[in-house]
Amino acid sequence: MFTGQVHAREFAGGTYLVKMFIDLVQKAQTDKGLKELLRHYKYVAIPIINVDVREALINDPASWTSSSGLWKAYVNGTDGNRNFPGVLWGQVSKGNRLKWNIRLTPGGDNYPGKTAGSCPETQAVMKWLYHYIIVDKARCLLDMHQQGSIIYAGKEWSTRAQEKTAEELRKKVMSFLNRGNSSGRTYKIAEDEPEYGLNGTGSTITDYAVSLASGAKFSVAMGFSAYTDGEREYMLMELGDLDKAKFPINAPNPEFSTLTIEIGLGQKYLGNSASTRKLIATEYKKYHFDALLESLPELLP
Ligand SMILES: [Zn+2]
Repeated sequence: MFTGQVHAREFAGGTYLVKMFIDLVQKAQTDKGLKELLRHYKYVAIPIINVDVREALINDPASWTSSSGLWKAYVNGTDGNRNFPGVLWGQVSKGNRLKWNIRLTPGGDNYPGKTAGSCPETQAVMKWLYHYIIVDKARCLLDMHQQGSIIYAGKEWSTRAQEKTAEELRKKVMSFLNRGNSSGRTYKIAEDEPEYGLNGTGSTITDYAVSLASGAKFSVAMGFSAYTDGEREYMLMELGDLDKAKFPINAPNPEFSTLTIEIGLGQKYLGNSASTRKLIATEYKKYHFDALLESLPELLP
């Protein structure tokens, strides 16, 4: 599974995913091995989640610039990658100390929304995630962003098996992207969520996806995802380590892992100017994004 450009100014994610699929399908016309591979693996994508502000940034970037630069958020000033009702939504509850990347008012970035899952875009992506993670038992989700040539993997609240799979996948994808680039900039690792609880960042697409895969369900009482033993619902903090929880966590998709790939480096890679388009086109080939889809089955742990 692939998602891209939930953050409007991060054009590379959306552009790459469309191009990656075009490259894959074109190559499969003449490549028998690849055609065969596509019989066994299903690829699904939402290349551009934040379509409205993407469009706005193409037509009128000056009106969609705030003190922190070009907009990331949806048109209503909610940051789509803070709006998912995953297990960490509790950190934005009233009274908790917020991290720098959560803000309390709508704007160009980091506002998590009036309520968890409040945006129609979030709700559409939630249905899509549920179908492929729970019904189709997808193997992985790669969410494409743009900040600092890093790859996030693993969530503290996933089961140990899921965490291990994500870590292995990251290692392989990272050396795939870095192949031949050892002398220049390389993609590096970053910890997704160093500790969980009330000071986490939470509420991203991958947070929610892992919540689903590890067995959390939406709690009407709490307004975000929680774990249940059938009798009552537990917040993540009550359980601590999922592998040592008081009741068995039956992860419905124990193989599932997520990666967040941050493409490029720095402000000059953001937006849709002619110079940015040039930079991301070079990045695409240099770091082998053109071959990532066809190689992914081999990279899966
Ligand atoms: Zn982003």
